[in-house]
Amino acid sequence: MNPIAALYRLQEIDTTWDKIRRRILQLQKFSGGSPELVRARERVQAVDAELQKTRKEQQDAEMESASLSERIIESDKLLMGGQVRSPKELEALQSNLESMRRHKGGLDDRSVEAMVKADEIARRLAEQSKELNSQESEWQAKEQAIEEELVKRKKEYLYLKTLREQAIATIEGKLLEQYEYLRGRKNGVAVAKLDNDTCTACHMQVPVGVIAHVRQGDGLVSCTACGRILFAE
Ligand SMILES: [Zn+2]
Repeated sequence: MNPIAALYRLQEIDTTWDKIRRRILQLQKFSGGSPELVRARERVQAVDAELQKTRKEQQDAEMESASLSERIIESDKLLMGGQVRSPKELEALQSNLESMRRHKGGLDDRSVEAMVKADEIARRLAEQSKELNSQESEWQAKEQAIEEELVKRKKEYLYLKTLREQAIATIEGKLLEQYEYLRGRKNGVAVAKLDNDTCTACHMQVPVGVIAHVRQGDGLVSCTACGRILFAE
């Protein structure tokens, strides 16, 4: 194989290799779930956390209210029992009792409020969980296809890597450097095929003298317009 043909073959391998690499990255990005699914999962988690927090608030208010109830009953007994006689003490007891009753009233309000709020959140959570479940099962079917394609693409990737190593082994170092240099600067196309008298990469006409050189295949000939290495079959 002449060196330019070998270079052209290398470019075909590299182009396919790049495509597969991009596809693998794309597939890997999706393998944890689509962005919508990830967002839906996060939403359900957030609503669930909100529900737990609201239920905890309700429980705390209920517990505090229950313990206040006991203290109110005790104070009531004390007040009604007749053991406390000093007007000052009685007044303090009475005032404390009223304050506890007010506080308990506030706690009971909070508890009811939290309960109503928790019910509303639980309804929302049930709705969103149902939606998420259907998204998850839809995803499972897609995920299998993605996993299967990933396995296939990884195999292709490795196969092309081997092909590339074999192709490179036959190409002279200087030529390879020129190829890499051009590929990096010319949108991944270092070697351009001649189509009659036109460069297929930049679509400019190539001078007759240059074409003759390319056809002889006796070394590196550049397109006078775009600088790519010209190749004639
Ligand atoms: Zn050109």
